[in-house]
Amino acid sequence: MVQNIVILTGAGVSAESGLGTFRDEGGLWSQYDLKEVATPKGFALDPAKVHAFYNARRLNCLMAAPNPAHFALTTLQRQFPGTVTLVTQNIDDLHERAGSTGVIHMHGTITGALCAACGHRWDAPRAMAATDACPSCGKTATRPDIVWFGEIPYHMPEIDAALMQADLFVAIGTSGSVYPAAGFVAEARACGVRTLELNLEPSETARTFDEGRYGPASKIVPDWVAEMLAGVSRPT
Ligand code: NAD
Repeated sequence: MVQNIVILTGAGVSAESGLGTFRDEGGLWSQYDLKEVATPKGFALDPAKVHAFYNARRLNCLMAAPNPAHFALTTLQRQFPGTVTLVTQNIDDLHERAGSTGVIHMHGTITGALCAACGHRWDAPRAMAATDACPSCGKTATRPDIVWFGEIPYHMPEIDAALMQADLFVAIGTSGSVYPAAGFVAEARACGVRTLELNLEPSETARTFDEGRYGPASKIVPDWVAEMLAGVSRPT
């Protein structure tokens, strides 16, 4: 019987909310140079360009709304009798706006600001600028609280511990091309955890999963959640 579920979501879960994925045709990486806008070196070279990129992402996110896949995962968190650990690579806050709690943002959040000088964190304003001073130390080293390529993702010990305790690992809407998240399926399998991929089409790591179900997240995620909750008695 499944008691502990670990779910990893990627850009595909938010695609039908109107937030572009990175690697699909017409995705963000075909419009921007990853090295310029999503690396520490790119930020050091042109902080204004990087802030402009993330200011646009923040605006897109503000205008987007959660879709049935986000809401279904909230229902699962609320009604599943065991534990549901929700880990996301997404920097958007659509899981939270659908009502999910305790979401582990391994790549940070578009709604957060971070001082590169002192490590202080605060809520990002709608538009950030390279000249913004840190409210704590006053230095102008403000950056989005996002994990860039070449940086270490957040909360890894917590995620590893959850994977070791899991009976089921589910990856939703992720291409399996960004590590360490792409390695979670192998890590889970090494611990004897059953693995399921829910994606528009088979991902790069599809063959590593025990099972795959394919189609738009707004359809296949609610269907899978309904299956997981079938037979669960709900409080009246
Ligand atoms: P990715 O762009 O590499 O892959 C997206 C995956 O989603 C693909 O496998 C694609 O087939 C699938 N997909 C597309 N539309 C779908 C749909 N309607 N239903 C189900 N699946 C769908 O994204 P990734 O694997 O998350 O890549 C990781 C990086 O992308 C992360 O660093 C993340 O921060 C970043 N990212 C985040 C956002 C966001 O916060 N919304 C948006 C773009 C990229």
